[in-house]
Amino acid sequence: MTIDPKIAGRFCEMLLPAKKIAIVGHHNPDGDCIGCITGMKAWLESFYKDRGQVSVSAVVPNHIPYYLMFMGGADSVILYSDSPDRAKAALEEADVVICMDLNSLSRTEELADMIRNGRCTKIMIDHHPFPEQFADLTISDTEVSSAAELTWWLLSEASRQSGTEITETCRESLYTGMMTDTNNFCNSLFPSTFLMAAQISEAGIDIDKIQMEIMNSYSEDRMRLMGLMLQEKMRLFPDLKAAVMVLDQQTKDKYNYREGDSEGFVNLPLKVKEVEISALFTQGNGFIKVSLRSKGAVSVNRLCRLFFNGGGHERAAGGRLYDVAVEDVENYFERSLRLFLGGFSA
Ligand code: 5GP
Ligand code: MN
Repeated sequence: MTIDPKIAGRFCEMLLPAKKIAIVGHHNPDGDCIGCITGMKAWLESFYKDRGQVSVSAVVPNHIPYYLMFMGGADSVILYSDSPDRAKAALEEADVVICMDLNSLSRTEELADMIRNGRCTKIMIDHHPFPEQFADLTISDTEVSSAAELTWWLLSEASRQSGTEITETCRESLYTGMMTDTNNFCNSLFPSTFLMAAQISEAGIDIDKIQMEIMNSYSEDRMRLMGLMLQEKMRLFPDLKAAVMVLDQQTKDKYNYREGDSEGFVNLPLKVKEVEISALFTQGNGFIKVSLRSKGAVSVNRLCRLFFNGGGHERAAGGRLYDVAVEDVENYFERSLRLFLGGFSA
């Protein structure tokens, strides 16, 4: 993975005249999204240190999972769901908006029109296929583990050109983004991913602390919910090489569910040798959240685009179901997958 120095140069040029910058992430922000945002925020603060007064804000559509709040600056991210006026002001006043870890403005939900119609300079930094062409500068590459990795390579080059320090907060955030998006070094790994980890570790971060915060900080409720999902909710479809789990509202209530508590659950059925596709459906407010994973040749990105109102990567994708009752969701999944594997494509 190499960043074209000219792209990093353009990135710096676009930043230089700015007085107000807003960094934006996607709905239901994950570790990669928040890592990118807090990493970028820390870097911009170094970049502007001797370049005059510039304010940098960060906005996401809704809540950040609690286990990501340890990252420096996560507590200053504005949530549109809680503070719509502050979020709106940050976007309307910005000269530059940097969209991170999203390939389409629709993933910012209510923020999309404000960004699209704003007179600001727009920059997109992302690693999903099929980037929407809305930005003045699109930095998009699918041959990296995560948006955080792409951001690391961009900022490394931009730092060389501009003499900007990459602080520990920046390194910690980008490492966490990469580490969470690779499911702790399990998937989407490229040689450049290990190079990034090596460079960051050499420059210095507390990897043990990050490991502890992300991997070993479950609540008892979350741990027991995971056990229940595997024991009682996981259903296998051997002829489809698929597994499905449905997390309904009643179960969420029983285990005092908090946003992020089911993070990673969808990966678990893939540990069964014969299972190649795993689906997790989570009942939410007005829709069912869909999470799909593949460890074989099946593209869950296409499956999600066709049947689940979403998209993502070849082996990790998500979406939503609006008109399917929670009791019918297993059935819907089975029928969709049969059609899909049978060659349905329109
Ligand atoms: P997760 O299953 O972890 O929620 O999401 C996995 C991946 O699927 C994300 O990294 C993102 O690329 C994609 N994704 C998740 N939800 C949606 C959605 O509602 N729409 C689209 N287009 N992609 C999604
Ligand atoms: Mn993400």
